[in-house]
Order: sequence, then C-alpha cells, then structure tokens
Amino acid sequence: MSHGHRGSRRRRRRARGVDLDRIMMKRALDLARSAAAQGEVPVGAVVHRNGEIIAEAANTRENDADPVGHAELLALQLAGRVLGRWRLTDCTLVVTLEPCAMCAGALVNARIGRLVWGADDPKAGGCRSLYQIPADSRLNHRPPMVGGVHAVISASLLRSFFQARRRKKKRC
Ligand SMILES: [Zn+2]
Repeated sequence: MSHGHRGSRRRRRRARGVDLDRIMMKRALDLARSAAAQGEVPVGAVVHRNGEIIAEAANTRENDADPVGHAELLALQLAGRVLGRWRLTDCTLVVTLEPCAMCAGALVNARIGRLVWGADDPKAGGCRSLYQIPADSRLNHRPPMVGGVHAVISASLLRSFFQARRRKKKRC
C-alpha cells in the first residue's frame, strides 16, 4: 500500500537530480562564457557534492600555454586540493562539452561519482562520440553519465566563438 507513495517520492528525488544538473550546468555555462571573453574556447566545468560547489574551472589552454588546460581536468585537480584527497566518488562533474579522451581518463582516475555534460563533441568526445572510456568494462571505475544537459546553449556558445574567431582571422 505504500508503493505508490514510495514511487512518487522516488520520482520527486529524480526530478530534483535533473534540476540540480541544470542549475550546475548554468554555472558551468557562465564559466564558459567568461573563458570566451578571454580568448579561450568556451568550455566550463563544475565539481559539486550534493549541490555544494567544490571547484570550478574553465579552459585556460591559450592563456596558460597549457596543452592539458581543459576545464574539467583543472576542476578535478582543484577539487582534489580542496578536499585533500584524489578520490572523488562522492562528487559530480558537470561540464559544458563532452570530455575528450584525456579528461575521460582523468575522470576514471578520480573515481568521479557521476558525470554530466552538455553538448556532444563529435570530433574529440571520449565519453560517447569517439570513445566510451567511462563506460569501458575493462576499467575499474564506471560512473553513471548523462549527456545533453543544456546542449543547445553550449553548442551555440562554441559555434559563435569559432565564427567570431574565423571573422577576426579574415580581417588580419
Ligand atoms: Zn579534455
């Protein structure tokens, strides 16, 4: 007799999870936008624990001349420093673009609890598009993944960034 009640409670909990993904993605999109303003490819990432933001970062590849300066990698490293441990099983990483092979590997190494991304990356995506690294059964950690959260906003940010960059190059 309590089944219906429990069911609706479960549904509510699921709805809250989805809301939290969208809230955190909005923050990651803000980080992506400020990266674009500094000439970086607009990708932003947030590491949170039950809605509490532990770390956040955006791409810094251009300004730091850092070949591994991807938003999600930097956010993971920062989260490790903040929490004083490398194991992030109780954390969720939210990033505006599907992580590449390098970052997907880093997420597995961090034992991330959950992964959420915005737009798919057909050219370099390591979680669904080209490789499915976090889902590979040969690895010892397989976090739940959700792609496509606010994907349209994320993709249009990237598109307008590259369009503007092409226009600028033409002018020079
Ligand atoms: Zn990456």
